[in-house]
Amino acid sequence: MPIKDKPTPSRFRFLNNILLIGGVLLLIASFILPLVLGPQIPGVPYSLFIHQVQEGDVARAQISQNQIQFQLKAGDEETGSVFSTTPIFDLNLPSLLEEKGVEFAAAPPPKNGWVTSLLGWVIPPLIFVGIWQFFIRRGAGGAGQGMLSIGKSKAKVYVEGETAKTTFTDVAGVEEAKAELVEIVDFLKTPGRYTQIGARIPKGVLLVGPPGTGKTLLAKAVAGEAGVPFFSISGSEFVEMFVGVGSSRVRDLFEQAKKQAPCIVFIDELDAIGKSRSSNGFYGGNDEREQTLNQLLAEMDGFSVEAEAAPVIVLAATNRPEVLDPALLRPGRFDRQVLVDRPALSGREAILRIHSQKVKLGDDVDLRAIATRTPGFAGADLANLVNEAALLAARNQRQAVAQTDFAEAIERVVAGLEKKSRVLNEKEKKIVAYHEVGHALVGSLMPGSGRVEKISIVSRGMAALGYTLQLPTEDRFLMDEAELRGQIATLLGGRSAEEIVFNSITTGASNDLQRATDLAEQMVTTFGMSKILGPLAYQQGNRAAFLEDGRPNPRRTMSEKTSEAIDREVKDIIETAHQQALDTIMRNRDLLETITLQLLETEAIEGEKLHHLLSQVQAVSVS
Ligand code: ADP
Ligand code: MG
Ligand code: ZN
Repeated sequence: MPIKDKPTPSRFRFLNNILLIGGVLLLIASFILPLVLGPQIPGVPYSLFIHQVQEGDVARAQISQNQIQFQLKAGDEETGSVFSTTPIFDLNLPSLLEEKGVEFAAAPPPKNGWVTSLLGWVIPPLIFVGIWQFFIRRGAGGAGQGMLSIGKSKAKVYVEGETAKTTFTDVAGVEEAKAELVEIVDFLKTPGRYTQIGARIPKGVLLVGPPGTGKTLLAKAVAGEAGVPFFSISGSEFVEMFVGVGSSRVRDLFEQAKKQAPCIVFIDELDAIGKSRSSNGFYGGNDEREQTLNQLLAEMDGFSVEAEAAPVIVLAATNRPEVLDPALLRPGRFDRQVLVDRPALSGREAILRIHSQKVKLGDDVDLRAIATRTPGFAGADLANLVNEAALLAARNQRQAVAQTDFAEAIERVVAGLEKKSRVLNEKEKKIVAYHEVGHALVGSLMPGSGRVEKISIVSRGMAALGYTLQLPTEDRFLMDEAELRGQIATLLGGRSAEEIVFNSITTGASNDLQRATDLAEQMVTTFGMSKILGPLAYQQGNRAAFLEDGRPNPRRTMSEKTSEAIDREVKDIIETAHQQALDTIMRNRDLLETITLQLLETEAIEGEKLHHLLSQVQAVSVS
């Protein structure tokens, strides 16, 4: 929440006075001046007027509803004096005037009358509203908005045709995400096809991924592909100084959206409002955020996609899904999550191709080579890279962007990126590749650790340099000893591969070791899986230990001997698993090379191709 600097109090008083003086002046101008300066016509009683008419003294009269002006007859040389009187309701007056030969007419509508009355009736209220707003604004601590606009959603509406239409062809390198979103486009285009057979169209889709990978772009592309309006608002815009503003903004946003359905509501930075309600925020913004979140949940529950002919689908983006309130992820809310990851080699090439369409490329430019040199770059970084290269080319007065411009631009962008995320050099890349393949080889053999679905050396999130993704083939609630040992061996597979290939050890495996050791310790002290120590719980456990956060509980007080025995058992489990991992990798040394080479080339291997490679892994018999 940006805290805007408030004007100093003395400046306030000054402004205030000016406003008041201005107001008073306007009041005088609009009310009193016309009375003082207006034409002065002496008034006479009505009876006198009638008398003068009957006497034949009146030359002409001008009659309006609430005033009669009349001119007396005068001598030849001068015009007669004018008087006015307030009429009473008198139907006989016209005939009397006619009889006495008075020239009479209805008064023309007053020339400046409406201006005066407008000034009189409109300006003062305006002044009051102005003063009122001024005070409100001051009270708001410079929130920067008048009272009247508070709570109005600032959602921008991008309607197709108004902005350049974004489609899936503008997005590359995130093929899986695109494939999932194609379905959403279909929902928006032909909701009837789904509702007709009773399918529930998802209301919320959460795009998860590091910054700059194209989440916003994808959301726009979904709207563009479906040809529906696109409402976008950022989570941080919901959270304001006033409690209640955020929630009314949410309400307003959905109201607008429903009117234009089918459409897409895109909430960027969902974590700004969707932070877990249990985790305490600082400076009391919590209440407000909670209300906003509750309103969002209520809105999402409130509309039923099926009931309405046209769906409103809420897309949201975050790079920190782990902090989100679990309530947001329940069915009927953001129950779909789409991973928008950093692009691998071919993806990067495709993104470079998209963005270099706008610049003139020289003949020597090799986008594939550039993609090879930019591991870890997100889409936004690549877009930036193309632009940097174009700038350099222009500065060097070239007609088209050359490969050398790209080379120089990469250096610049990398320098900026190194602070933000990790960009691996060639040697690190190789180490990470062997490491991840090591995990995969061991993991593919171990019982109960799930199928290896993807290996990648494109860093994901902030922590990992590469990753091996194992997906369980079924729901598991219990694990037996062999499976736990298998998991530990898999965790050690990365380091074992490094040991075998490079005969040295890097710091990259520390997280693996931590997790392996935690698991081993839990086996001994919590699950009672050690033969020597028996089925005793050596930890003061009331936390649900298994699968919760993986961290062991503090140990019970115990004799030194027991403590030593535990340490020995833990070490033994780890060492056995380590040996098993080493054996497995030694046995499959050639396959390790084959897969690693492929991984280095494409940066990620997944699906059928990976299954095929890993099906060749040969098991070693455990002695
Ligand atoms: P995010 O919302 O994930 O932070 P954006 O969608 O705002 O990222 O991406 C910023 C810009 O970077 C986009 O407008 C686009 O020019 C470029 N970009 C990012 N990812 C991609 C991609 N996958 N394909 C093409 N361009 C991309
Ligand atoms: Mg974005
Ligand atoms: Zn690892």
